[in-house]
Amino acid sequence: MSVILPVAQRGEDILKLKAAPVAESEFNSDWLLQLASAMHATMLERNGVGIAAPQLYISKQVIIVASRSNPRYPDAPEMDAVVMLNPQILEFSEATCFGEEGCLSVPDERAQVERAQSIKVLYHTLAGDVMETVFEGFPARIVQHEIDHLNGILFVDRLTA
Ligand code: ZN
Repeated sequence: MSVILPVAQRGEDILKLKAAPVAESEFNSDWLLQLASAMHATMLERNGVGIAAPQLYISKQVIIVASRSNPRYPDAPEMDAVVMLNPQILEFSEATCFGEEGCLSVPDERAQVERAQSIKVLYHTLAGDVMETVFEGFPARIVQHEIDHLNGILFVDRLTA
């Protein structure tokens, strides 16, 4: 039975903070595995395709990216969920694209947001292994959206108009 956590809402201070990195001593720890499990369960319950720890009042650099078709994103492509610790974008493609985004912390609002079409990301797995992965299209959009949360940025902060 997974724990469902409350989701912080736009305007709350936790969403404006820069999240702390996960320390090496925390890799594979019970608390980190429980956090990831609760993040995943909360994301699924809310029909999200990604989630960041600060949205659950934990100011740590942990995100989950899990594109899949659901009532909020019927056209999302399927992928296996990826948990990323301390993710860093190493490369952004020059090509950008606009796509619709929403956010579990910004209910009832959607907007077209410009993002890099593809990105290369460096991160640690829950076990502490170092990974480097290229994401394209919608999954790349989710990664950029979730990493923004780790820097205190919401998609609505990126709208110019
Ligand atoms: Zn969000």
